[in-house]
Amino acid sequence: MDQVLILGATGSIGLSTLDVLERHPDRFSVHTLTANRSVEKMLELVVKHQPKCAIMACPEAAAELEARLPSSSGTAVLSGQNALQEVASAPEIDVVMAAIVGFAGLRPTLAAARHGKRLLLANKEALVSAGRVFMEAARAGGAILLPIDSEHNAMFQCIPANPLGHPEMASVEKILLTASGGPFRGRSRDDLNAVTPEQACAHPNWSMGRKISVDSATLLNKGLELAEACWLFDCMPSDIDVVVHPQSIIHSLVRFTDGSVLAQLGNPDMRTPIAYGLSWPDRIEAGVAPLDLVDVARLDFQAPDLDAFPCLRLAQEAITVPGGMCILNAANEVAVAAFLSGRIPFTAIDLVIEHSLISVPAGEPQDLGAVEALDHDARSCATDHVERLCRASVGG
Ligand code: NAD
Ligand code: MG
Repeated sequence: MDQVLILGATGSIGLSTLDVLERHPDRFSVHTLTANRSVEKMLELVVKHQPKCAIMACPEAAAELEARLPSSSGTAVLSGQNALQEVASAPEIDVVMAAIVGFAGLRPTLAAARHGKRLLLANKEALVSAGRVFMEAARAGGAILLPIDSEHNAMFQCIPANPLGHPEMASVEKILLTASGGPFRGRSRDDLNAVTPEQACAHPNWSMGRKISVDSATLLNKGLELAEACWLFDCMPSDIDVVVHPQSIIHSLVRFTDGSVLAQLGNPDMRTPIAYGLSWPDRIEAGVAPLDLVDVARLDFQAPDLDAFPCLRLAQEAITVPGGMCILNAANEVAVAAFLSGRIPFTAIDLVIEHSLISVPAGEPQDLGAVEALDHDARSCATDHVERLCRASVGG
C-alpha cells in the first residue's frame, strides 16, 4: 500500500488526485493533505479521507481547523512551511503529489525530490525556477519524477523510459508541445486591453485554478512548459515546437528520427495524467469519459500568435539567459496577482515581466538560497513596476 502526500490538496489538481485515489483504496492510502488557508475545504477533505495528518501553511488556519475537527478525529493538525518540508521528507511517505501553485511549492517539492520519493510534478513553477538545482536534487536523491502537466505527461507516455523513469532521448528528433490558445485565441493585442479576470479564468477546455488559467490566457503557461520540457527531457528549446491545437484532445506529440510521430490523445481531464503518474508503468482506471472521436470530429493546428501574446516570446528569450526563467516566473506571479485583484490590465502582465527581465541582474543559481534570492529580487522589481503602472494610470 503506497502512502500518499498531497501538497495543495484543496486545489484543482489536489481534488482530482483524491478522486483517482478513492477509486483504488487497495493500492493507495491518503497519508497527509496540505493547503494554504482554506479551512472549509480542508475540513471536508479530512472528514472524508481521514488522513493521518493535515497541514495548513497558515498558522491561524491550522488553529481554526483543529478547533473545528470533531474530537474523535484521528488526524493530527500541523502548520507552517517547515511542517510541509518535513512531511515531504518523511520515510513513511512513498508518493508525493506536488500541486501547490507557484514558487511557494518549491521547498516541499524539492524536499521530496531530495528524499527520493515518487514525485508527481504538477507544480511546474518550482522546476522552472530552480532548474538545474531541482534536477540535480532529484537525481542525487533517486526520485522518480513523473510529469503531471498534461503535455509533459503525454511526452512521457510517447518517449521510452528506463525503470527510473529517465527518458531515452536518442531517437527523438522533435517534441511538439501543444497549446489550446486559451480563452482569447484569435484576438488582437488591442482587443485584450479590457478583458476581465473572470473572462481570463474561463478556459474553453480545462477547469483549473485561477493563476494557471491566467497563464493559459497570456500563453505564459506555454513558456513555463517549454522550460519544463527542456529540464524533464534534457533537451534544448530548439528541440521543441509549440503548436496551437484548440480542441485540447492531443496533449503533445513526439517525432522520432525515422519520421514516426507519436501522440497521446484523451479528453481534457487531469485525472488521466494523474492516474498515469500514480500507476506508471502500469495503468489504472481514472474515471475519465472515453474519447469519442466522431463527436470531436476535427483536430485543428495553428502557429502561436506572438504579437497578441508576447509572454510566450518573452519566455523563449528568458530561457536562453541563465536564471532568466526564475525572474520571469517571479515577475509573472506578481503581475498575475495584480491583474486578478483588478490593479493592472491584462496587457500589463507582459510589461511587468519584460521590465523585470531587463532590470534584474541574472545568473544561474547554484543552490536553493541563490534561487530564493533571485526570486526575491525579481518579485521586488515586479512589485515596484506594478506600483508605477498603477500610479501612472491614476495620474493619467
Ligand atoms: P489551485 O489554485 O487550484 O490550488 C493550489 C493549491 O495550493 C491549494 O490547495 C492551495 O491551498 C495551495 N497553496 C496555495 N498557496 C500556497 C502556499 N503559499 N503555501 C502552501 N500551499 C499553498 O491550483 P491548481 O490549478 O490545482 O494548480 C496547482 C499546480 O499544478 C500549479 O503549479 C499549476 O501550474 C499546475 N497545473 C495545474 C493544472 C490544472 O489543470 N489545474 C494543469 C497542469 C499543471
Ligand atoms: Mg499544461
